Amino acid sequence: MIKSYVVSISVKGVTKLYGEQKALDDVSFEINSGEIVGFLGPNGAGKSTMMKIITCFIPQSAGEVKVCGIDVVTDSMNVRKSVGYLPEHNPLYHDMYVKEYLGFIAGLHKVKNKKSRISEMIELVGLTREQHKKIGQLSKGYRQRVGLAQAMIHNPDVLILDEPTSGLDPNQLVEIRALIQQLGKEKTVMLSTHIMQEVEAICDRVMILNRGKLVANNTSQGIQQSTSKKELVKVEFDQEINLSEIEKIDGVLTVKRLDGKVCLVESQTDIRRRIAEFAKSKDVLVLGMQIQEQSLEEAFKQLTRPT
Ligand code: ADP
Ligand code: MG
Repeated sequence: MIKSYVVSISVKGVTKLYGEQKALDDVSFEINSGEIVGFLGPNGAGKSTMMKIITCFIPQSAGEVKVCGIDVVTDSMNVRKSVGYLPEHNPLYHDMYVKEYLGFIAGLHKVKNKKSRISEMIELVGLTREQHKKIGQLSKGYRQRVGLAQAMIHNPDVLILDEPTSGLDPNQLVEIRALIQQLGKEKTVMLSTHIMQEVEAICDRVMILNRGKLVANNTSQGIQQSTSKKELVKVEFDQEINLSEIEKIDGVLTVKRLDGKVCLVESQTDIRRRIAEFAKSKDVLVLGMQIQEQSLEEAFKQLTRPT
C-alpha cells in the first residue's frame, strides 16, 4: 500500500478548555505514516479529549491539528474519510445484528460494494462465527471486534483507538492486541491504554500525557533511559562476598543481596568494569553481570507523579 503522506497526524500547540478547566495545554506532536503509537496517561490526563479533537468530534480551543495534511476544523469532511475511530465507550446498538450495524455504518460513510466490504471486515476482525448474532449477545471481546470493524469499514489510513483493550479478559486481550498489531502493518495507529506491557509489545513509540501536558515522547526504551538516573547491575559471583567489600568499590552507591552469591549493585554510571577488576583482585569469579532496566511502569509513575 502506498502512503501519500509521511506525517499522518500533526498536532501543533493544541489547548482545550472545558469552561475554566484546561484539559489540554499546548500539546504538540507528530505521528508518521505506518507508526503504532501508544498514548499513556493517568485518568483525566486528556487522552480522550485529544483523540476526539483528532477525529473531529470536538474542536480545540487553540492550536492546529492536521490528519494526512488536512485540517480537522476547516475540512472535517475529508478528515473523517481518512480516520477510523474506536471511542472509549464503544457506543454500539445492542439490539442490532452485527451485519446490520456494520451496514448502517458503511452507509454513513457511503462505502461502495457494501456487502462485500462488510464480509471482508467480518473476516478480518475474526467475527465470522458471530456474524449472525445481535451485538447485545456478544462478549466484550467480540464487541470490541465489532468496534474495530466499524472503525475500519471505510478503509481509513489512520486508526484512533481509545482504550481498545480495557475490560477484556487475558485471552481476549491477547487476541485484540494481535489484531491491532496486524492492522498496524498497513495503517497509522494511535492507541490509548493503561497497560504498559501492551505498549512495550506493540508500539513503536510512546507519548505520555499528564494533566493536559505531553511529558514524554520517545521509544519505550528511550523513556526508560531518560528517567532512570542510576544504573543497576545484577552480579553473580562464584562465592558469597561480603557486601561491605563491594560497597568499597569506587562509584558504588548501594548493594543489595538478592540471593547468596547474587547481588544488585546501584551506581551513578556503568560500574561493570570496576566490579570485574574487584573480583580479580579478590580471586573471585564473576559468573554474570546484567544491567537492570527501569521498567516503563516506573518511568510512567515518575513522569506522572502528582506534585
Ligand atoms: P483521559 O481520557 O485521559 O482520562 P479526558 O480527556 O477524558 O481524560 O479528560 C480530561 C479532563 O477533561 C478531565 O479532567 C475531564 O474531567 C475533563 N472533561 C472531559 N470531557 C469533559 C466535558 N465534556 N466537559 C467538561 N470537562 C470534561
Ligand atoms: Mg479517556
